[in-house]
Amino acid sequence: MSTTEQSAAHAILEEVPKQLYIGGEWVDGANGTLEVEDPATGETLVEVADATPEQALAALGSAHDHQKEWQATPPRERGEILRSAFDAIIERADDLALLMTLEMGKSVAESKAEVTYAADFLRWFSEEAVRIEGRWAETTTGGSRMLVMRQAVGPAIMITPWNFPLAMGTRKVGPAVAAGCTMVVKPAKQTPLSMLMLAKILEESGLPGGVLNVITAKSSGATMEPLIKDPRARKLSFTGSTEVGRTLNEQASEQLLRVSMELGGNAPFVVFEDADVDNAVEGAMVAKMRNIGEACTAANRFHVHSSIAEEFTSKLAKKMGALRVGPGTEDGVDVGPLIDDDQRGKVEQLVADAVEKGAKPVLEGGRTGDRGYFFAPTVLGDVPDTARLLKEEIFGPVAPVATFDTEEEALASANDTEYGLVAYLYTNDLNRTLRVVEGLAYGMVGVNQGMVSNAAAPFGGVKQSGFGREGGHEGINEYLETKYTSIKL
Ligand code: NAP
Repeated sequence: MSTTEQSAAHAILEEVPKQLYIGGEWVDGANGTLEVEDPATGETLVEVADATPEQALAALGSAHDHQKEWQATPPRERGEILRSAFDAIIERADDLALLMTLEMGKSVAESKAEVTYAADFLRWFSEEAVRIEGRWAETTTGGSRMLVMRQAVGPAIMITPWNFPLAMGTRKVGPAVAAGCTMVVKPAKQTPLSMLMLAKILEESGLPGGVLNVITAKSSGATMEPLIKDPRARKLSFTGSTEVGRTLNEQASEQLLRVSMELGGNAPFVVFEDADVDNAVEGAMVAKMRNIGEACTAANRFHVHSSIAEEFTSKLAKKMGALRVGPGTEDGVDVGPLIDDDQRGKVEQLVADAVEKGAKPVLEGGRTGDRGYFFAPTVLGDVPDTARLLKEEIFGPVAPVATFDTEEEALASANDTEYGLVAYLYTNDLNRTLRVVEGLAYGMVGVNQGMVSNAAAPFGGVKQSGFGREGGHEGINEYLETKYTSIKL
């Protein structure tokens, strides 16, 4: 980092709130503090508050106490707060991107792209706040009229992961604010800083105290379970692993909360023989390398027609091999560190398992650097069906390539997973596109493109990738209940 960058990093780390945000007040954690680490060095960046379960319950109490009043706030006012926060985020995009890189690792350019993407959810839902509609109709038998209205579901609990520290927050906070819900948010302990800055920005943008409450904690299970089981909560929105999602679903069943689950993925990237190989490689770079491969939407496995597999694999390996690995704060770096040593160990094991079972390393990357959690891009060819990385989420810069000969085979391989978040498809044949899209058991499909995320789209999965949608017109529905009234005339 240059001296200017160092002083910018110092300034934003000084500025970011390090306390809990409860009822509009910033308060210390009664459990002391938890350390936030820089994954590029393994060193502590700052310490933030470690909440007790009692403090988390106080945050829920505050959300509960403010629900009625917040719900009654005019939609335009709720929307305008979101719009002001959008403007503030865009104005401060450089600072927020640097903060994100410091806590999460990806390059500043990638962090900046996330900041813009994250802000767009606030802008989108500022527009949705004033478009919450109901209906008025005559019953089929006549005589009565039906009034259908939509009302805020009530206090929501939100739990977010470390991989997109800001966007996973705005995708929940945006629609909840727009719908008139109050909330308690708990970001991942590795990356709480972006969420704390978001809370500060929303506070400065006029969000009344108590509407958004933020809890950070070392022990997420012990802190959040009492909230999920508390009758004052009405909604749980979770983004994270399928394993934790299952546990939280069980807990949410006690109060029968409205639940949204954005869980793990195992995205297939299918390239048919009629595809433009260079376009497919370009798309593969985005689908694989965005966020260092640490995205739920990351292409986890490449299924390529055997007639073009060699060309595709060698071109992909050349591009992935040309990427520069290093601290995300350095100019020109493409691939930052993985989030922690556990994550790097998991990626390493998956690669070792595939190679042991016969996969051929085409680009040998692997563990690198003498500090931090760096893993250089890796490409494996001829990956056998038995390799664990075709079934499990890799969450790292590793591209396994397997081959197929027929469309049926390609579709069967693509669907051969418990997950169903996103699939990518490369072909120039329109009939094949429609046939395959209809056959894919996924919530989202990218056709001839390696990225599907945007604020106007209903993002979400099927099967063990979860349920519910974030973004699009659907996103606000997760925070609204439908009430029907029958009126005798
Ligand atoms: P994770 O381990 O499931 O953690 C996600 C969040 O849950 C964190 O805030 C974590 O807190 C919290 N948590 C963990 N155990 C908990 C418990 N028992 N009770 C309450 N909260 C608990 O997932 P991750 O490793 O952070 O994130 C990566 C996963 O997220 C991947 O599987 C990825 O595919 C998925 N993801 C999905 C989407 C989507 O939209 N479908 C988007 C992004 C990521 P602590 O970390 O503080 O313990």
